[in-house]
Amino acid sequence: MSKPRALVVGMGIGGLATALRLHDIGWESVLVERAPERRGAGYFVAMFGAGKGPAGRLGVLDTIGNRTDPASITYDVERDGRRRPGMGYGDVPGAPRLVLRGDIEGALFDAVEPLAEMRFGTTPVAIEESADGVDVTLRTTTGDATTGGHSTETTERFGLVVGADGLRSTVRRLAFGPDADYMRPFHHILGVSVLQEPVPGFKPTDGIVLAEPGRSAWVFPFTDHKPTVLLSYRTDDEDAQFRRSPAESMRRAFGPELTGPVLGNLLDQFEAADDKLFDSVHQVVMPRWHTDRVVLLGDSAWCVTLYSGMGASSAMAGADLLGTVLQRNPGNPARALREWEMRLRPFIATHQASGRRDLVMFIPQTRRDKQTRTFTQTLLGNPTGKRLMQRILAPQFHEKSIDFAAA
Ligand SMILES: Cc1cc2nc3c(=O)[nH]c(=O)nc-3n(C[C@H](O)[C@H](O)[C@H](O)COP(=O)(O)OP(=O)(O)OC[C@H]3O[C@@H](n4cnc5c(N)ncnc54)[C@H](O)[C@@H]3O)c2cc1C
Repeated sequence: MSKPRALVVGMGIGGLATALRLHDIGWESVLVERAPERRGAGYFVAMFGAGKGPAGRLGVLDTIGNRTDPASITYDVERDGRRRPGMGYGDVPGAPRLVLRGDIEGALFDAVEPLAEMRFGTTPVAIEESADGVDVTLRTTTGDATTGGHSTETTERFGLVVGADGLRSTVRRLAFGPDADYMRPFHHILGVSVLQEPVPGFKPTDGIVLAEPGRSAWVFPFTDHKPTVLLSYRTDDEDAQFRRSPAESMRRAFGPELTGPVLGNLLDQFEAADDKLFDSVHQVVMPRWHTDRVVLLGDSAWCVTLYSGMGASSAMAGADLLGTVLQRNPGNPARALREWEMRLRPFIATHQASGRRDLVMFIPQTRRDKQTRTFTQTLLGNPTGKRLMQRILAPQFHEKSIDFAAA
């Protein structure tokens, strides 16, 4: 009997984890990626227990590694250069592994490459679902993108289609409807780049946080990799942010006050970076993540936002659980998908709520939030204060450590 065959759209963490898990349960996968090649290391990602469990079962946890530097100190800084030791992401309860997105993607990619067919430069352009399969028209573009390249189209039948193609998912648009029906603006913009030079006055192992009402800059240090900076700010007019260059929008958002030495350096380095991410933040909220044979997974289905610190973990948990329910319901993907969504919903609802709640940890929203932050950071300057704070935060972080997809 031939193996059931799935199309997995997107070679991010969600898509790669799905293809690996499907192979475990005896499915064949075709993985397609719109980009012509693999992308770079990306940004800082905290991996909590909810992601470590699935990564372990997928056999990639050791390869992912851990770039947490136990000797690292995170400083809370002000524009005028004042600084005090504070709490970095590595200090939060739950002992998250601090890695780069590329560490997880790379480990999954290496594991899945020998096991699945992979096609770059390929995107679905039509999806036609019937009772016994899904016909997908795939367009592959090769050659020089600046001259439009050369495109070919084929239509192939699959038993299941998994849309793991991110926040602005094509599978979602083709099978469920326009972005505007599901993308909920968060009214925040983010910018990320790798810092090529140390920030003057700081060691490369130092973390840095400059947090003000409505805007913040975080520097995340790593072992064996240059730090990354995350700049983010609140705005009521997201569209306007994209009519200027990313650097100009950032400078306006952090103005008009003088930047001071630290912020000035971070903005300069962001502007100079060849490879930078600049995007608006959204959650994806859908009444249903699947039809009988098409399913969305990861940011395409439920983007929890970076502020929850659970996007990578929830994508791996979703992929892990998908394998479990498909194996339990052979020949009946519709029933498997219903079971999958029923079990996954409460977990995702929790982390979408934590995305909204934890935003304030990254960006104080009001002057009062800033004052509270300054007070707690002062407490954190000594080990007793830090332990106390970890105890206070433990219930909030406990939910991120639950290996929901186990069993
Ligand atoms: C700055 C930042 C910080 C973050 N920090 C954390 C953190 O600390 N902890 C955490 O767990 N998560 C974090 N996240 C979220 C996390 O990175 C994502 O949720 C996670 O990587 C899962 O993404 P995904 O695979 O669903 O989608 P994506 O990573 O967006 O991957 C989608 C893939 O699909 C491809 N694609 C898109 N359209 C098509 C198409 N039409 N056809 C074919 N391919 C297509 C894309 O090129 C891409 O390769 C952070 C995110 C950001 C932006």
